[in-house]
Amino acid sequence: MLGLSIVGSYVYQKCRAEQRKTAEIEALSQALERYASQVALEQVDRPIVEAVRRELASSCSPRLEEKVKDMDLAARREFFAGIVRNVARAMQVDIKSLSFGDLDAGHIGRCRNEGFDIHLTITDAVIMADPRRAVYTICHELRHAQQFTSFTDDRWGFSDRRKAQWLSEFTASASQRATESEAMFRAYRCQMLELDANNFASAVTKNII
Ligand SMILES: [Zn+2]
Repeated sequence: MLGLSIVGSYVYQKCRAEQRKTAEIEALSQALERYASQVALEQVDRPIVEAVRRELASSCSPRLEEKVKDMDLAARREFFAGIVRNVARAMQVDIKSLSFGDLDAGHIGRCRNEGFDIHLTITDAVIMADPRRAVYTICHELRHAQQFTSFTDDRWGFSDRRKAQWLSEFTASASQRATESEAMFRAYRCQMLELDANNFASAVTKNII
């Protein structure tokens, strides 16, 4: 009898543990869904995505690698500067300056604001070694420019919720920048901004480059 009850209790415990685990997994997947829907592209993104896709389809075709394979650094800088200009125009975002060169290890692109001015940097390493990644990075960084611009001049009509999410992260990140390393800043402070920029870059480049 004692043995049975121990077994019974064990089975009961195991069952409870499994139920807890299932509930935990359900809660996590619901949270994940909520999180994904928070960063999902909005209706107003559609025409922007389409415009960028049209632009990339013309500037990166027929094959991007073929197009750039004989270009030296200077020629590639010029080619990718053209892509930045055209994609920025398609996104209706204004860039004050574009530079090519080096960034801290691990970074291939950067979008920085000084007041209302937006400065973009793309590394020489990525335009030389991985043209597809360079195009993706350009779209990613230009999306940051769009996020930033939307706070002061939302010419696209993003939802208030979206802008509030972006702004709260942007504000938090600006005050944290001084005390945290760039890696920490990116890892912990910029999830929404980064996820959105990646979402956007994936949407515009998918099956195009
Ligand atoms: Zn980013």
